[in-house]
Amino acid sequence: MGELNSDIQYLSGVGPKRAEMLRKELGVATIGDLLRIYPFRYIDRSSVQKIASLDASEASVQIQGRIISETLYGKGGTTLMQRVLLEDGNVQVRSSAQSEKQEAILLKSASRLSVIVDDSSGTLEMVFFKGIRYNWTRLIPGAVFLFFGKPQEFNGRLNIVHPEVDPPQKDPSVPGTLTGVYPSTENLKNAGITGKVMCRMMNAALALCLGEITETLTDKVMKDNSLCSLKFAIKNIHFPSDSYALQKAVARLKFEELFFLQLSLLRGKFRRSRFEKGIPMPKVGPAFKACYDALPYELTGAQKRVIKEIRSDMMGGGQMNRLLQGDVGSGKTLVAVLSCLIAEGNGYQSCIMAPTEVLARQHFINISRYLAPTGLRCALLTGSTPAKERREIHSGLEDGSISVIVGTHALIEDNVVFNSLGLAVIDEQHRFGVDQRARLWSKGKVAPPHVLVMTATPIPRTLAMTVYGDLDVSVIDELPPGRKPVQTICINQSRKPAMFKFIEEEIASGRQVFIVYPMIFVNEKMDISNVEQGYEEIVTRFPLNKGYKVALVHGQQNAETKQFNMDAFVAGRAQILVSTTVIEVGVDVPNASVMVIESAQRFGLSQLHQLRGRVGRGAEKSYCILVKDYKTSKESQERLDIMCSTENGFEIAEADMKMRGPGDLEGTQQSGLPVSLNIASIAKDSLLLSQARAYAEQLLEDDPALEKASNALLLKELRKDKYNIKDYSKIS
Ligand code: ADP
Ligand code: MG
Repeated sequence: MGELNSDIQYLSGVGPKRAEMLRKELGVATIGDLLRIYPFRYIDRSSVQKIASLDASEASVQIQGRIISETLYGKGGTTLMQRVLLEDGNVQVRSSAQSEKQEAILLKSASRLSVIVDDSSGTLEMVFFKGIRYNWTRLIPGAVFLFFGKPQEFNGRLNIVHPEVDPPQKDPSVPGTLTGVYPSTENLKNAGITGKVMCRMMNAALALCLGEITETLTDKVMKDNSLCSLKFAIKNIHFPSDSYALQKAVARLKFEELFFLQLSLLRGKFRRSRFEKGIPMPKVGPAFKACYDALPYELTGAQKRVIKEIRSDMMGGGQMNRLLQGDVGSGKTLVAVLSCLIAEGNGYQSCIMAPTEVLARQHFINISRYLAPTGLRCALLTGSTPAKERREIHSGLEDGSISVIVGTHALIEDNVVFNSLGLAVIDEQHRFGVDQRARLWSKGKVAPPHVLVMTATPIPRTLAMTVYGDLDVSVIDELPPGRKPVQTICINQSRKPAMFKFIEEEIASGRQVFIVYPMIFVNEKMDISNVEQGYEEIVTRFPLNKGYKVALVHGQQNAETKQFNMDAFVAGRAQILVSTTVIEVGVDVPNASVMVIESAQRFGLSQLHQLRGRVGRGAEKSYCILVKDYKTSKESQERLDIMCSTENGFEIAEADMKMRGPGDLEGTQQSGLPVSLNIASIAKDSLLLSQARAYAEQLLEDDPALEKASNALLLKELRKDKYNIKDYSKIS
């Protein structure tokens, strides 16, 4: 017994050297760890395709064939070396290199390796831009390999770029045998830990430890969700007896992962709502009514619903932790203000924190307008607030005369003391670090303030369940009436003259125009040459002597210059704003009717969506023009197509997640997933995720603290390190 926890080096065939490598490359320390490294795909003998049958529409294919020739190309397409398999089985080498040393130099300078594979039905090119030396050495003409990858068309012919390469399948007589392919690295292979060796180690590990594996789910959980046992799953994930068994194994392991993740998130939430005392705010004061009555419009249905949700949180005696999602322009600011007024009606102060100075200022202007009819004191506190004013604000917060404070990180500095902070609103939350939010939390005197987090980056439901799994989520899914859709088109560089003509017309009729350039990162530094060149181009086309004013804003200007130029545009003195993505969030210029995005293919979907949200805020019809470069990949084109086809932020977010995977999803990079998932994918397993969450919820309804004996097993598993997630309840 106890083999599962024994050091991996004692597994037969491993030893100290390989153990070190496994630890370093895969984080495997024990035999049990090894068993939790799962294949990421399986080689199925029966699914090897013939080259002649392939076309570019296919997803990934597997072909097996002999290498008949390969060519090493240098920069500009010059041929550096070539190896060709001759009829007699010998290999002919053509190379300008006279020695091994020269050959090594050629290999170093090579930029592409092309390998031609023949499977007797036809030939196919495999292309490598990376790992050239490694592949040149292992892929010798005459040898047979199994290649896996996505065929694509290039210059009218098919090829596969960077295929996965495996040793050939030996035994064609056994159809349907699934062989796992494990994650690997060059270091592992160099240490002799090939795919085959991995399989052998897994086999040894299973033989030794399978009996030791204990169940982590109760019988009831397994039965309710039709799951196989952990033992069966572990055995079949490594060595599936057939594809059905594999399916059962995968489903079980994925469910387990998602279920415990949700269970831990939800348990925190249940616990908090039962035990964490919040500030009860039962009243709605006169200020709320004054603001509400002075509004020139009706609240949208979605705004009403969300305010109801917020109010019921705040009066309930528990502590509110709510995420408010809504597209740009959906009216979140007003919801925030009304929430602040609920707090005020019960004798508490509120703060509204924004990620940038520009945004904070804009919020302050809007919020002051909403608050005007109430006569309440509202102030703005940012890094650039002058010392004297800062002191006044500090004392106003301390004596309670300021009811609502808007600001940046300056709000969470230690010397900011509130008289009675009752509500913290955090805008664009992903821009705040975890620690910063924790500090805000601690500003409450008697009890933590209610927290309302607002984001204009819609997050797909499944991801919200995980990233914000312990927050309540409200969604404003309705725009204020009268909003005209933004017409979006995608054009080539060649159509820019026509675009400029159009911009000219818009400006002539009194509108303003955004022109955004991507920022490019070079050596950890931001390259702004794009936007500067762009600025030159625009100023030449729209010169001052014809009455045009063009403002330039980018991340490398100092705060004053940035503010000055931004103000010029906001105030309407400049008709065109040329900028990098600094304007992405928040800036409200209702008179702007055109958003031009240069090199649009370089932007992510949600960023494009955010940018487009800057227009269409006024009464005029608005346009978003996506200018793409000639070299636009298929994937980038897909993004641009989505942008042209929908304005719905949630649809865009779903598409974004499907295309990029959740790890890369904008708006969540910093918060990320609270735990790393081993086998399940938030993007791909959304159905299973919903199922796991619903089941976890149901289980906790019945036993919130998991104290029933029947749930002891689950509690034990939950206490393991891997489910010890960041405590989001304390930070947002
Ligand atoms: P968000 O913060 O969600 O991007 P804002 O709160 O800035 O949106 O609202 C966008 C614009 O819509 C503002 O000019 C605001 O005054 C206006 N607005 C908000 N709610 C309504 C409503 N119910 N009806 C009409 N206009 C509204
Ligand atoms: Mg806003």
